[in-house]
Amino acid sequence: MIASSLVEAAKLLRSGETTAVDLLAEALETASRTEAQLHAFLTIDTEGAMEMASQADADLADGIDHGPLHGIPVALKDNMCTRGVETTAGSQILAGYIPPYDATVVVRLRSGGAVVMGKTNLDEFAMGSSTENSAYGPSYNPWDLTRVPGGSSGGSAASVAAGSCLLALGSDTGGSIRQPSSLCGVVGMKPTYGTVSRYGLIAFASSLDQIGPISRTVGDSALALDTIWGHDPLDSTSYPGDYPDPTAGLERGVEGLKIGVVTELSGEGFEPAVEAATADMVTRLEKEGVEVQEVSLPTFDIALSAYYLIAPAEASSNLARFDGIRYGLRVDGPTTEELMARTRAEGFGPEVTRRILLGTYSLSAGYYDAFYGQAQRVRAAIQEDFARAYRQVDVLVSPTSPTVAFEAGAKTADPLAMYLSDICNIPANLAGHPAISVPIDLDDAGLPIGFQVMAPPLGEEVMYQVAAEVERQAAFSLAPPGPVS
Ligand code: GLN
Repeated sequence: MIASSLVEAAKLLRSGETTAVDLLAEALETASRTEAQLHAFLTIDTEGAMEMASQADADLADGIDHGPLHGIPVALKDNMCTRGVETTAGSQILAGYIPPYDATVVVRLRSGGAVVMGKTNLDEFAMGSSTENSAYGPSYNPWDLTRVPGGSSGGSAASVAAGSCLLALGSDTGGSIRQPSSLCGVVGMKPTYGTVSRYGLIAFASSLDQIGPISRTVGDSALALDTIWGHDPLDSTSYPGDYPDPTAGLERGVEGLKIGVVTELSGEGFEPAVEAATADMVTRLEKEGVEVQEVSLPTFDIALSAYYLIAPAEASSNLARFDGIRYGLRVDGPTTEELMARTRAEGFGPEVTRRILLGTYSLSAGYYDAFYGQAQRVRAAIQEDFARAYRQVDVLVSPTSPTVAFEAGAKTADPLAMYLSDICNIPANLAGHPAISVPIDLDDAGLPIGFQVMAPPLGEEVMYQVAAEVERQAAFSLAPPGPVS
């Protein structure tokens, strides 16, 4: 890449050292060199992107500057609707679906001058932690092509890590931005629930889903968030109040802040290299003047179980709309009912089917209270645990993922092992809080390790403040990964 971050690219654009067309050409060239190995993209819209890039250059020449994302090549997870460009959510059931409208985030990117270059691979309907559940084949990790990029936004994380774009958007229902960012050595952020519009995001679990940026640096992430978030009347859960300035604390340092290290997010199941890198980062932050406390949030131990009742319950309801009548695939049958049954049997993959069955079961009359009702009570208890913790500390920290990137195929036969990948991430979704993953180190095999910073609702300013210090302290180079030739 001409530039190693969008902030740098933005400078080069404005000093005339590069153009949006050149940035895009380089991104496309990187993609064409790496895609056979990575399969990060499902669609690359060369023509549409070239038009946007030329427009961005023409605007700058006319003195029209749309802001920090002006002329920057951006990739979108393929569960965000793009007018005129196929949007599949990684599912056969949406094969050939061409949305007639743009998701609100896409509208915001466009009006911010960004160059939307394509759609990235994901686990089908964002259900998974490795991008191996995509109906269009898996993606691979640019740091080691035998390993997964994480998921479900694995294509977005891999494309940023490989330099095929300078920014990508992902969606995070239970870790799907942060975990792949951790496994691919990039920065991934999930905003406060309700701050980024879900209009045009193909719903998985509506009370948990949030769109957020995946980028090379913390500063890029804050600028991208500032572009995509804000109240949207088209999303009934959109937050209508005042928004913080995510960039305000980036250069402030961390002196005087209180940081809580989550006791429950360590120990069994956590790789020693991940624990060592996390502890080392906490020590470095302490030297920068933060006060460190161990904080116990006992409900974190049951968060995963609650999530795997709530998310499938919402998914079973959200996915009822894919009936062969309204969108995408249709498998004919002698009756309407048979048509729907055949379409769904053929169109949904095994993990999606498992979630629909789980969700329908836990919502059924005799089991509703025992499963779904109980999970909602756990969700409320998690929120109380967080509230108690945030009376003592400004932010909470943990590893982003208990492990580094695992081998492709290692967990596909064991859904429970796969579900455990998001153990550190899910509490923030259940509470609706912001959280970010920042790459901090490599393990002995050269695989990236991510550090998670969680903050209270609308605490994006302090979250980015700490994340920026973590980035400064990290023994991590932004050098593009080697294995992709
Ligand atoms: N891995 C989790 C799941 O499979 C989270 C997915 C996500 O955040 N979209 O549900």
